[in-house]
Amino acid sequence: MTVEVAAAILSQARAGLALTGAGISAESGIPTFRGEGGLWTKYDPVKVASIDAFMADPAAYWAVSRDRGPALLTAEPNPGHLALAGLEAAGHIVAVATQNTDGLHQAAGSRRVIELHGSGRSVVCLDCGGRETRAEVQKRLAEPLPPRCLTCGGRFLKPAAVFFGEPMPVEAMEEAYALAEAADVMLVIGSSLVVYPAADIPVVAARAGAKLIVVNAEATPLDRVAKVVLRGRSGEILPELVRLAASAQHSH
Ligand code: NAD
Ligand code: ZN
Repeated sequence: MTVEVAAAILSQARAGLALTGAGISAESGIPTFRGEGGLWTKYDPVKVASIDAFMADPAAYWAVSRDRGPALLTAEPNPGHLALAGLEAAGHIVAVATQNTDGLHQAAGSRRVIELHGSGRSVVCLDCGGRETRAEVQKRLAEPLPPRCLTCGGRFLKPAAVFFGEPMPVEAMEEAYALAEAADVMLVIGSSLVVYPAADIPVVAARAGAKLIVVNAEATPLDRVAKVVLRGRSGEILPELVRLAASAQHSH
């Protein structure tokens, strides 16, 4: 069975790297952008979460957050996030690089988390550089929008997440590429692999010799270069994979 093949590969890994996308958090109740039930069926994220749209109309961004924010803030890690923390603790992966901004890997106990798109849990004032938690800003959304900076009164309180049209955090990208170059196994979970440059990380890893394992609900552009493709929900597949990898290791 394919899940056993993947488990055998993982049980041998010493420098594995995981890359996660919105799909791993879907079972925590956070909608993805693409795929079934994806946000793109309701909003156009390029309009809502692009830096140009935000600068032109921060109130429109926060109006969407008034609806979406509470679910983000109360979401909890699911068995997929917990399984990845376990793989790190067992020494099979060295880090999780994530396109997500929800903080759920850290909440699940992953120690080395590379946030390629920043964090939606904190908010920065573009005028004075002051920071607040999103939870604090979220409380002020009942007042007239946009929420104001408590320090300087500025109108541009922006989540510390990377918006469309903004550059990627250079240090995080460099760290992820270095780990991809050195990886023996590359595990990609819940990413449609169409958002660049994050989608290049597994390409770099595979070119440098890593065995690629893809876990996703739908087909991805990298399925044909993967050693194993596991189609389904990550919250179900990953715990099984980790359990089998642990027993494969003990039988060596
Ligand atoms: P995406 O929305 O483009 O793709 C998600 C993929 O996950 C799809 O291929 C879908 O089929 C798959 N999927 C859905 N449910 C799944 C499940 N239960 N198990 C396994 N796979 C599942 O996500 P992306 O590739 O991460 O790119 C979108 C961008 O949106 C990212 O840059 C990210 O920053 C941002 N985003 C983040 C969050 C979050 O922080 N949780 C949520 C939505 C979007
Ligand atoms: Zn300010």
